[in-house]
Amino acid sequence: RVRKEVMKKDKLHMYDLYVPMVNECNVPVSFEQAKEDVLHSIQLYGTEYAKVYERGLNSRWIDVYENEGKRSGAYSSGQRVHPFVLMNFANSLDTEFTLAHEMGHAMHSYMSTKYQAPLDRHYKIFVAEVASTCNEALLMDYLRKQNTDPKFQAYLINHFMEQFRTTLFRQCMFAEFEKIINEKTANNEVLTSDTLNQIYADLNKFYYGEDVIVDDEISMEWARIPHFYMNFYVYQYATGFSAAMALSQKLLHGTQADIDAYLSFLKGGCTKSPVELLRMAGVDMASPKPVEDAIELFDSLIDEFKSIMK
Ligand SMILES: [Zn+2]
Repeated sequence: RVRKEVMKKDKLHMYDLYVPMVNECNVPVSFEQAKEDVLHSIQLYGTEYAKVYERGLNSRWIDVYENEGKRSGAYSSGQRVHPFVLMNFANSLDTEFTLAHEMGHAMHSYMSTKYQAPLDRHYKIFVAEVASTCNEALLMDYLRKQNTDPKFQAYLINHFMEQFRTTLFRQCMFAEFEKIINEKTANNEVLTSDTLNQIYADLNKFYYGEDVIVDDEISMEWARIPHFYMNFYVYQYATGFSAAMALSQKLLHGTQADIDAYLSFLKGGCTKSPVELLRMAGVDMASPKPVEDAIELFDSLIDEFKSIMK
């Protein structure tokens, strides 16, 4: 509804969700600047973390720019001699957040490898997106304090809100789609492209509500989501994101004990179950609270965004 108002549209189609609501702040961000920002944003972890992080930034852990034949996107490969990060840095704020994200993965790999035996060092997929998303939230906090220009603030909040929509909200819809079709298979029901389209269209209507026009074409979107051809996976984006939001709030506004607890989680590898590790870090994923808190934070961002746009 806010998007509809900001974009001044009577009717909002699904494809309108892909148009930026706020003009990209036309300030190019150099890689040097991005490195400086991310390094500042993680200082609260203390000297051990910060020193390794700085070494990583300056010792060719990262393949930075686009290149002929290089794959797209971004990735952290875990730890061999040290972690390696692949990026396609584009001198933009968006790719600055990608740097924070991938270095978060890299440091999680580094810490778990340093403190655990080889068999226990690999963290499980349920916790994988916590360290990366948490560091993005720290960068968000750092940048919002650096420049109070309303346009810049609106841009950052919009980036943050889009993360909520695509990582928490939309992945829940994906998970529900997977759950429904797997239940049908378990009940010996036949899945045709028509039934899959119908289920997907209904979910889009349910999730996006009456303010968005769900065109027929969207019913086929399921076919291009690679995760639907793999094991049940997507819900972990939503849980990981919620855990990361809760933990980043503790890191930013809590005590030294909260920071220490989080660091022991990063060092934990797979020595305990993911839920136990996260509990040790300070968030209980067996309760609905982290998800509820994340939604509440999303609500407050929407309110803040509305008042800036006015
Ligand atoms: Zn990631």
